[in-house]
Amino acid sequence: MNKRILRLIVVITVLVLVAILIRTLQGPTLVSTDRGYRQVMGTFAHIIAVAPNKKTADDCVEAGFEKLRYIDQMMSDYDPNSELSRLNRQGFPGPVKVSQELFDVFLASVNYSEKTNGAFDITIGPVVDLWRKTEDTAERPGKEALDAAQKKVGYEKLTLDPNARTVRFAIAGMKLDLGGIAKGYAVDLAVKAMLQAGAAGGMVDVGGDIRCFGAATRGRKVWTIGLEDPATEGNVMMILKLNDMAVATSGDYRRFVLIDGRKFSHIINPATSTSAAQLSSVTIIAPTAIDADALATALSVMGTAKGLQLIGSTPRTEAILISPAPQSIQTRTSGAKKYIKNK
Ligand code: AMP
Ligand code: MG
Repeated sequence: MNKRILRLIVVITVLVLVAILIRTLQGPTLVSTDRGYRQVMGTFAHIIAVAPNKKTADDCVEAGFEKLRYIDQMMSDYDPNSELSRLNRQGFPGPVKVSQELFDVFLASVNYSEKTNGAFDITIGPVVDLWRKTEDTAERPGKEALDAAQKKVGYEKLTLDPNARTVRFAIAGMKLDLGGIAKGYAVDLAVKAMLQAGAAGGMVDVGGDIRCFGAATRGRKVWTIGLEDPATEGNVMMILKLNDMAVATSGDYRRFVLIDGRKFSHIINPATSTSAAQLSSVTIIAPTAIDADALATALSVMGTAKGLQLIGSTPRTEAILISPAPQSIQTRTSGAKKYIKNK
């Protein structure tokens, strides 16, 4: 054989081998599935799955939504048939045996109550109910009603027995409200379900409580998450780059009532039974969505100084806070910067 042809064959063979090697090192080709938004947990949820093939990616999205629906049915306080609603009816005199998931959320909640000096408190239900009524009446709840409701609030009035997995309320009329933590918990469980179904990566978003993991879409390694500007709806205020992290935002800019032209947040300061007004928006970045969710609600109550102190002593957790308009001053922990794109 002609020497030149032989050399050419060798070169081509080497090139082909190098190409195969690169492809192997890159790992399997991944595809992603995005089936859009669906209504769950009183808001809109969005799941994206990345997997080795389309069928697995589709299955992962469905497994994620299935978990969200399961937790919604269990923890909704709007649904009188949910396990939480039943507990709220029977917790006093109790005790009531509850599912492992509910018990886990209660344990985490009490832990957050202790860490935040009571700023986060799921026994806030009776006071939340009074403020919710203002959505129809546009009038502040009366002092008498608030005082009576406040007597039924306090996480120390909740008895959790881990051995029997039971819950008991110390006084009649107590009501647990998981609005500040259930979405985050559900997001974490959905991520777990997706991993079990074979996801190589994914993103779960339930009304702004988001967790992303593993491979991102279009061969990227990090997920980009847009944060909405509290002052102008629909405007992206900043873009976060996250991987294997969660982010949650609490604030008065989406859900509030107007009374005499003043905004009243749906987040209540348990110490005063009035709506939290110190911050307009609180974004927390943390390893799990349950942590991000509970802390975002807690910091809305605690305000900037105490809030930053707490986040400073919480590992791998960052905060981005915005004070109410018109000042809208942004304060953040020093470590938040590494998650912000182009900053
Ligand atoms: P989020 O949007 O996660 O901040 O949750 C707000 C929801 O948490 C409210 O709509 C209430 O259902 C509930 N909530 C209000 N105040 C508190 C509080 N101080 N601690 C725990 N949950 C609260
Ligand atoms: Mg929350």
